[in-house]
Formats: sequence, structure tokens, C-alpha cells
Amino acid sequence: MDILQYPKDEAKLRTVSEPVTDFAEAGKICDKLEKILSKHDNCMALAAIQTDIPKRIFVMKTKKGIVRAINPEIVKQKNKMPTSEGCMSFDMGKKFISKVRYQGVRLCWDTGLGELEWESKFFNEIEAVCVQHEVDHLDGKLMIDK
Ligand SMILES: [Zn+2]
Repeated sequence: MDILQYPKDEAKLRTVSEPVTDFAEAGKICDKLEKILSKHDNCMALAAIQTDIPKRIFVMKTKKGIVRAINPEIVKQKNKMPTSEGCMSFDMGKKFISKVRYQGVRLCWDTGLGELEWESKFFNEIEAVCVQHEVDHLDGKLMIDK
């Protein structure tokens, strides 16, 4: 199994991930996460910590391609809405729970292309939910948490 599973790996999943400083290493971690993502059609995104790497990185499939978010931060959010979400660390994505999330978020992240290269994008609906879910992972939070 290449993805940590709750409850067996709960202690690891609750680790707060460290900021990335080595962007070459981050690129390799992104490659690995993308490879795992490509193997699971039901998986929209994956945080590094889900593969036991406590670095602030997640990779996400979007309508416009793959986003590799290094040191991501949600800088704006709007409109709460009820939603349902799953997680690859819970029964390999087959468990869903109801939550309230923001309908839109603006995310900033380092692209890894250089020390000062960063990107900012607004995400809506399911992509916004996904972003919030992944940032929670980096803070050691799980979808079952309040
Ligand atoms: Zn998850």
C-alpha cells in the first residue's frame, strides 16, 4: 500500500508537515505523488504526508491540468456550503462524510521552479473543497475532525 490508511497510520497522518526549502527534492516528491494519482481514477488529490513524507506539498487534478502545490496557503475564502468528501486515507476513498466547506478559495503556492516563483489561483466548488481538504492534511487534520 503506497497511501497511509486511517486508523492504522493515524499518528503519521496527524503529523504537521514542514515547509519546503529544497525545491529539487520537492519536484521528486511531486513526481511520486502524480504517479500514485494516475493509478487511482477516484483520487483527485494527494498530500505528501499521505505517503509518509511530512512536507507541505500536495498534487491535485483540476479541469485545467495537474496543480503541484508547494507550501500552499489559502489566502481568501468565501461562501460556506454543505458538501460531501472522501479521502484516499479512509478506505481508499470509498468512505464519504458530510462537511461544511467554503465554496471558493484563493490559494497561493510555490511552483518549485525557483526560489521566488509562485502562483495564485481561485478555486471553486469541488476543487475548492479539495484544496481545503489537502491543506488540512498538511496541518495534520483529517476529514473526520470538526
Ligand atoms: Zn485526504
